[in-house]
Amino acid sequence: MFKAYTQSTHLHIPHATSTPTQPAPANLIYGVSAATRHDNPGHPECAARIPSITDALASFNLTARQDIQQLQRGRVATVEEVLAIHDPVILKGVEIMSDRPDGDVGTIEQGTTFFTNTSYDDALRAIGVVLDLVDGVCDPLNVLGQVESPVAFGICRPPGHHAVVSQSMGFCLFNTAAVAARYAQQKHGMKKVMIIDFDVHAGIIAGVV
Ligand SMILES: [Zn+2]
Repeated sequence: MFKAYTQSTHLHIPHATSTPTQPAPANLIYGVSAATRHDNPGHPECAARIPSITDALASFNLTARQDIQQLQRGRVATVEEVLAIHDPVILKGVEIMSDRPDGDVGTIEQGTTFFTNTSYDDALRAIGVVLDLVDGVCDPLNVLGQVESPVAFGICRPPGHHAVVSQSMGFCLFNTAAVAARYAQQKHGMKKVMIIDFDVHAGIIAGVV
């Protein structure tokens, strides 16, 4: 009996080691919204920004790591989600500014904020990517199949931190950061969300909503 037991155990070991191992949990998730047609070549906030970021991440072998995962759910933010922060007038304004011929670029604020005929859709798509990331952080079990909350990194444009309640500004059509914070509260029950905002010209601004 002892011998049979030993043999059984011995046979079991190679079987166990050949079982596929669970993938490592994601420590960092990221989402990409390139908005290739929301472009104004030569402008600091041009479409070349996103490939330059993703190329740099790939060249440092950061995107091939198992604990870093790209989230690709392709969600587009709804008007209701944007209106949780913004006044309807800004939605109408962005829609009007985006109603232009293909290849035409319109600007406001001495040209700092520009619009093409894809800008409205691209802005909602950029917010959608960030809301997906919020889901991944706040509900990792359903989104990622893991218990641990990862850190999330949105590589998104048009950018979204300068726009105020009723006005696009500073390259930003909507305020993605504020919409995401409100979404975390309304969808995931977060009580307070801290936004730490650092920018090349604005220092660090921290706000709690
Ligand atoms: Zn800025």
